[in-house]
Amino acid sequence: MFDTSFIEISRSALKKNLEFIRNQIDNNIKLSSVVKGNAYGHGIKKFIPLAEEFGIDHFSVFSSKEALETFESKVNSNTKIMIMGMIPNGKIEWAIKNDIEFYVFELDRLKTTNEIATKLNKKALVHINVETGMNRIGFEKHEMEKVVNYLRSDYIQFQGLCTHFAGAESIANYYRVTNQIKIFKRIIHQFQKKNLNPKRIHCASSAATMNYPNTRFNMVRIGILQYGLWPSKETLIHYLGKHNKRKNPIQRIINWKSCVMNTKNISSGNFIGYNNTFQAQEDMKIAVIPVGYTNGYSRSLSNHGSVIINGNKVKVIGTVNMNMLIVNISEIPYTKKGNEVLLIGNQNGQEITVSAFGEYTNQMNYESLARLPADIPRKIIE
Ligand SMILES: *Cc1c(COP(=O)(O)O)cnc(C)c1O
Repeated sequence: MFDTSFIEISRSALKKNLEFIRNQIDNNIKLSSVVKGNAYGHGIKKFIPLAEEFGIDHFSVFSSKEALETFESKVNSNTKIMIMGMIPNGKIEWAIKNDIEFYVFELDRLKTTNEIATKLNKKALVHINVETGMNRIGFEKHEMEKVVNYLRSDYIQFQGLCTHFAGAESIANYYRVTNQIKIFKRIIHQFQKKNLNPKRIHCASSAATMNYPNTRFNMVRIGILQYGLWPSKETLIHYLGKHNKRKNPIQRIINWKSCVMNTKNISSGNFIGYNNTFQAQEDMKIAVIPVGYTNGYSRSLSNHGSVIINGNKVKVIGTVNMNMLIVNISEIPYTKKGNEVLLIGNQNGQEITVSAFGEYTNQMNYESLARLPADIPRKIIE
C-alpha cells in the first residue's frame, strides 16, 4: 500500500555497484558505506540490511540520531557505525556504550569523551578529524599538543585519523586538494613520530577514491557511487578515459513511482492550474499526479519537468502544487486513472534520471536524492 508515491530500491543494481567499487580498491582497504541524509534519500531502514547482504560492515552517518536509526536497522552484530558530524554531549555516553565510532574535531568533545569513557570504564572509539584546508571542521595545528595528550588516555582508542577534501570531483580544485593531501600526510607523520598509530587513516569520498588513488589509505568513505551515480560527470569521464572504456559501469538503484489520480479534457484557450503560466493552445488532455513539492517534487520543475506514463515521456504543465502536479497526456489519451507514473526511472527506452531531475531544478544529484521525504514508502525489488 502507498499513499501517493513509492520508491523502489534495486538489489541487483546495488550489488553491481558495490562489486564495481570493491574492484577499484585493494582488498585491505575498508569500505565504509556513507548513509547520511537517510541514505541519500534511499531510506536507511531498507538500505542498511540490503548493503549488509553484500558484505558492507561499516556505515558512516552524520549525526547521533542517524547513528541510532542505523543501529536499529542493522542485522549483523559485527556491523560498525561511525558518526562524522553532530553529537550533542548528552549522546556521547550512548555512543561509547554501543561502540559507535565518532569524529572529534574540537577540544570540548574530546574532553567530555574522555570524562564519560573514564566514568564508564570503557574505551571511546575516536576518529581525530584534522583541518587540512576545507576550513569547515577539524583540529588546527595549535591544538595538536592537547589532542596528543588525550590520545594517551587509557579511555581513548585512536580509531582513526581523517580529513575531508574541498571538492575532489573537479579538476578546478586540483591545487587545493593536492595541497590538502600534502598537509594530511605531514600530520599523519607527526602522529606516527609520537608513536600514535590510528587504526584507520581515511579522507577519500567517492570522488577522491576515483580521482586521487593515493588518498585511499586504509579506508574510503563511499556515498554517491554506491547509489549508482557519479560525484560529477567529470569524474565519470576521467574514469572512462583512464580505463579506455565507454560504458558507465554503475547503475542507479532508485526508482520513484506514482499513479494517475485523475484525467480531464481541456478546450483550447483555457488556462491550466494556478495563475496563468500555462494556456492550452489547442484541445488537450491532462492527467493529475498526486505528488507535489511537499512530496519532494520541486516547484521549480513547473512547466519544465517530465514523467513517464505508458512508456511515453510527457511534460509537466503549469505550476507544481503542494500535493499535485499536472502533465500533458494529449499524445496518450488512452491513459487512465490508476496508470503507473515514473517520476524517476526508465521504461520503453525512455528515462528520467536523477540528474535530469536535478539539472532542471539546478540541484545536484546529492540534493535531489536527499530531499526525497523520509515518509515515502520504500520497497526492495530485484
Ligand atoms: C558525504 C560524505 C562522504 C561521501 O561523499 P560521496 O561524494 O557521496 O562519496 C565522505 N565523507 C564525508 C565527511 C562526507 O560528509
